[in-house]
Amino acid sequence: MALITTKEMFDKALKDDYAVGAFNVNNMEIIQGIVEAAGEENAPLILQVSAGARKYAKSAYLTKLVEAAIIDTGVDVALHLDHGEDFEICKQCIDDGFTSVMIDGSKYPFEENIALTKKVVDYAHAHGVVVEAELGKLAGVEDNIKVDARSATFTDPDEAAEFVERTGVDSLAIAIGTSHGAYKFKGEPYLDYERLKQIHNLIPDTPLVLHGASTVLKEFVDRCNQYGGSIPGAQGVPEEMIREAVKWGICKVNIDTDLRLAMTAEIRRVLMENPAEFDPRKYLGPGRDAIKKMVQHKIKNVLNASNKR
Ligand SMILES: [Zn+2]
Repeated sequence: MALITTKEMFDKALKDDYAVGAFNVNNMEIIQGIVEAAGEENAPLILQVSAGARKYAKSAYLTKLVEAAIIDTGVDVALHLDHGEDFEICKQCIDDGFTSVMIDGSKYPFEENIALTKKVVDYAHAHGVVVEAELGKLAGVEDNIKVDARSATFTDPDEAAEFVERTGVDSLAIAIGTSHGAYKFKGEPYLDYERLKQIHNLIPDTPLVLHGASTVLKEFVDRCNQYGGSIPGAQGVPEEMIREAVKWGICKVNIDTDLRLAMTAEIRRVLMENPAEFDPRKYLGPGRDAIKKMVQHKIKNVLNASNKR
């Protein structure tokens, strides 16, 4: 049991019709819920930390909590930086013991994205760490990276092939219609499978990554609202659309919003039903159980990753 890279997980996932779940972590209960779920499902697992999570919980707490979860459960985990925005944060995470980093140069012109990604790849590979990059722009908001939905552009297949060739990056996040956050689509959800297939055919050995892949399950939005919330109608990517994408080279699927909703809905329920409760364990515990249940559902029914460890 150890912190591992994504290399072997992705090699296996590329040959089969499943994807590895990458779940965002911010505190102990979230880490415990996710790792316990992956352990029971015997599934490969990536835990990812955003710049916002590092700011909230501090890097040392998160890395030590992840190490503790590995000791407690015996589950191997890849620890990944989500959306590193410059070389320095990637270097810091590599030096802190992360086994995987994302450098997100998608907001820069093509050549600048290549140069920045290459710099991170050189440093990471020299330290035994793998790198994910992003090409194309997703609509939505993730931490401080905002992209106007209207200017969102999908990944160009030829550029993707050139990008991978010139940077030596280990995996590539692509834009084919998903977007970050809970409020994703005005009209019908749409994923550009033709584009995905073209990219996969051009770079069949490169694991592809789908960001913004929460479904925003109505059940949990409704539950939040039933217990005093006021989350407006939201729509994510239907789970059957993710299941389809997994067949075409998508090896890593990022899920954050659905976990937030599941945990919040449960904490709201406990506090509304027990207004005199003031022991944090009495609501964070059920919140942790809700995370675990959601992660098991995703691993089993969406990612097809049960027993793939
Ligand atoms: Zn993302």
